[in-house]
Amino acid sequence: MTFEDTDDYARAMDARDPLAIYRERFSFPQTAAGDDCLYFGGHSLGLQPKRTKDYIEQELQDWAQLGVDAHFRARNPWMPYHRLLTEQTAMLVGAKLGEVVVMNSLTVNLHLMMVSFYRPTAKRHKILIEHGAFPSDRYAVTSQMHFHGFGPASSLIELKPRPGEECIRDEDVTSTIERDGSSIALILLGGVNYATGQGFDMAAIARSGQARGCVVGFDLAHAAGNLLLKLHEWGPDFAVWCGYKYLNGGPGCAGGCFVHERHSNAWNLPRFAGWWGHDEQTRFEMGPDFQPMAGAEGWQLSNPPILALAALRASMEIFSEAGMDRVRQRSVALTGYLEFLLGQHSSPIFSIISPREPERRGAQLSLRILRHGQSLCERLAAQGVIADWRHPDILRVAPVPLYNSYLDVYRFVQRLTASLS
Ligand SMILES: *Cc1c(COP(=O)(O)O)cnc(C)c1O
Repeated sequence: MTFEDTDDYARAMDARDPLAIYRERFSFPQTAAGDDCLYFGGHSLGLQPKRTKDYIEQELQDWAQLGVDAHFRARNPWMPYHRLLTEQTAMLVGAKLGEVVVMNSLTVNLHLMMVSFYRPTAKRHKILIEHGAFPSDRYAVTSQMHFHGFGPASSLIELKPRPGEECIRDEDVTSTIERDGSSIALILLGGVNYATGQGFDMAAIARSGQARGCVVGFDLAHAAGNLLLKLHEWGPDFAVWCGYKYLNGGPGCAGGCFVHERHSNAWNLPRFAGWWGHDEQTRFEMGPDFQPMAGAEGWQLSNPPILALAALRASMEIFSEAGMDRVRQRSVALTGYLEFLLGQHSSPIFSIISPREPERRGAQLSLRILRHGQSLCERLAAQGVIADWRHPDILRVAPVPLYNSYLDVYRFVQRLTASLS
């Protein structure tokens, strides 16, 4: 694609983009002067769809008017409410209907999945993660190791970039799996690394991991709603993600969980059980013996947070309408535009550390800022530019295809470069 570094060009691109209409569906934080902020923080908390209020309001009304009867008599009865999200979620991650469920939050789901899928033995007890994994994932993984009598010293393998490089090479992922596979119980990699923005080749990882007998799980916190995912086809054993980053479900929103179809009737797997995962036909007989539902729903514990699910529905409907393939296409172009503009204003003070190939990243570009990065970030914030600072030197910028525009990207680079000089 050939881009141009002008205001007119950015406006013209917005004017002819069919997905530009979705920006209007979101509320933007406001500057003191009452203008929309330049919001590039969708990797941390997605913006609020304007319809979210209505979706929540409806459940508040039904609760007020019906009390407990709303479980069956609400306009959208709460008993099967989580299923209103199943089809959209399955489409979003490329799964079959029985393979996904929206429940709990990400780290909780990660633990639940590891209870079933991390079953270390004396010979095969290691977990492969990426160096610089999100801390919660590392804590979850090491605590699971300790729970089984292992620990990171004996059992954690961390994939690192080569010296002098920022991202992990795909061939190093595969060669590590090939070399150490027979001692690896679980491969747990992010779809997109939160810090560098690197996207991993999930199809290749699932393939080579399973060829060596490893269980494969993905943390898709930064990939769901960002990359085009084909989980069923790629074949990981499980995946988990959160609802509040690219999925715009609001703070603390329920997360998503994928369990591959081949485990849908795996009654022999250990699992931590709760009543909401019990066979629906007999759940309310309140019997003493747990009989899990088939598929991902069998890992549910509790009756779900209806207000949070209502919020997520408002956003998932936008994804369904726009179509994830078109969203991704627009994302590649928008992030490509950001990369192009940064190249036009290149400076020794910053460098892009995210992969330069669009298929090895999502929406986010991570910039290393060599000097005074934090005060730069604060100066930008004072002008209504919201990005994200990661100690010690990384600025994470995500043009989100559902609500950021080419003009946002253009203005961002203008303000960034003005603040640098
Ligand atoms: C955002 C994020 C989390 C957050 O976990 P919660 O349980 O939702 O608080 C965990 N892991 C990764 C990789 C993340 O990006």
